[in-house]
Amino acid sequence: MPKKFEDYKEKLKEIVKSKGLKYSTQREEILKVLYNSKEHLTSEEIYNEVKKINRNIGLATVYRALAFLEEQGLINSISFGSEGKKYELNRGKHHDHMICINCNKIIEFFDEELEKLQKEIAEKHGFKLIAHELNMYGICKECQDKKS
Ligand SMILES: [Zn+2]
Ligand SMILES: [Zn+2]
Repeated sequence: MPKKFEDYKEKLKEIVKSKGLKYSTQREEILKVLYNSKEHLTSEEIYNEVKKINRNIGLATVYRALAFLEEQGLINSISFGSEGKKYELNRGKHHDHMICINCNKIIEFFDEELEKLQKEIAEKHGFKLIAHELNMYGICKECQDKKS
């Protein structure tokens, strides 16, 4: 069941309160941008979107807010090596990513077998698995077709 933005906002409020911090609408605005986006966004893209709601926001504020939101588990990031990160809202539905190193497209996928296998591997090592991230890097179909 897809959650409403209000649910994410409530969660943010709770976290901010429990940390004894001041509630900032900027964090909320950034969360909103990610909530409304179907894509994974770079910090610059997020900045450009937030600017449409809040003209006065600075890039440094966006960076800080993103770090905070990620630390609190409200959003996730996917690393692009030297090209930086892309962010997405943590919608509570685990998935992994395939990343095209040519056009930066991200394909999301979920595979039951793979999830099971990871747990088994961890168990074999006496390792208590809490979470995992899997990024597969390569060339997407469209980019392969263009090259041939
Ligand atoms: Zn591609
Ligand atoms: Zn994703």
